Amino acid sequence: MRTRLSPTLVLLALVLVALLAALTDVPARLRAELAPVTVRVEPASVPLGGTVFVAITAPEATVLCVQTGGKQYPVTRQPDGRWKALVGVWMEELPGPRIMRTYAEVNGKKISVDVHYTVEKRTFPIQRLRMTKEQDAQYEAPSVQEEYRLIRAAINHHDAEQAWQGAFALPVDGRISTRYGVQRYRNGKKVGVHKGIDIAAPTGSPIRAANAGTVTLRRDFGLHGRTIVVNHGSGVVGLYLHLHDFDVAEGDLVKAGQVIGSVGSTGVATGPHLHYALYVHGTAIDPVLWKTIPSGW
Ligand SMILES: [Zn+2]
Repeated sequence: MRTRLSPTLVLLALVLVALLAALTDVPARLRAELAPVTVRVEPASVPLGGTVFVAITAPEATVLCVQTGGKQYPVTRQPDGRWKALVGVWMEELPGPRIMRTYAEVNGKKISVDVHYTVEKRTFPIQRLRMTKEQDAQYEAPSVQEEYRLIRAAINHHDAEQAWQGAFALPVDGRISTRYGVQRYRNGKKVGVHKGIDIAAPTGSPIRAANAGTVTLRRDFGLHGRTIVVNHGSGVVGLYLHLHDFDVAEGDLVKAGQVIGSVGSTGVATGPHLHYALYVHGTAIDPVLWKTIPSGW
């Protein structure tokens, strides 16, 4: 007696055959669309004030941007064909897991790739400063708003081309007298957080550019004192305050380690020191953490 195949079984077998065929015969174009973009974030666990270094390999794609924490960051194409992006982690962010989404275009089709990283908790000390009424009043001077505006503009200026290479050395030999992230109280009133580091050194000590870049601001300010901004490109900008003297002019290209000025206490300062801050796409990060960075940068 012949067994009859049930129509359901026949249908199931046909579906299976079709599925197998589809899986074993994926066209090359489609394979490229399935895994065309590889994203690597370093470190996978970043402290507050740290920086996420993003390296993207996408030989057949155009990488558009990366997005994390509700913000979008530009990508820059490197001479070797890879793409890079930098994400600064602000000291007051909420620690916890994060998703980084990379947007790219492959054969005219937009795709996105998600990778994960974690923002680690870190506590920052409190510092109480005593200042005279005259010193305190200088923070409220009308010219101060203009100082902040000019510095802000220089810090936020985005130069896509990366002039820097490798780690960023600290610009002055000396003791770090105030670290990044310190919560500051002036005469008992909370006045903000310390967005850079203070390096104490005798007046006249040389200040060396932390890495290569262009001098985009050189001013003698009332509050910030003699000020230099060096734009290192790809979103990285260095700020140097309270200088005694300048050794460079606006528009100068500087090499890593080149003397750009000397330590002083111009503006409002309690003694000779360099206030040095490093910004990544406008976010002040901890410059000490840039003394070692992932290889290949
Ligand atoms: Zn400072």
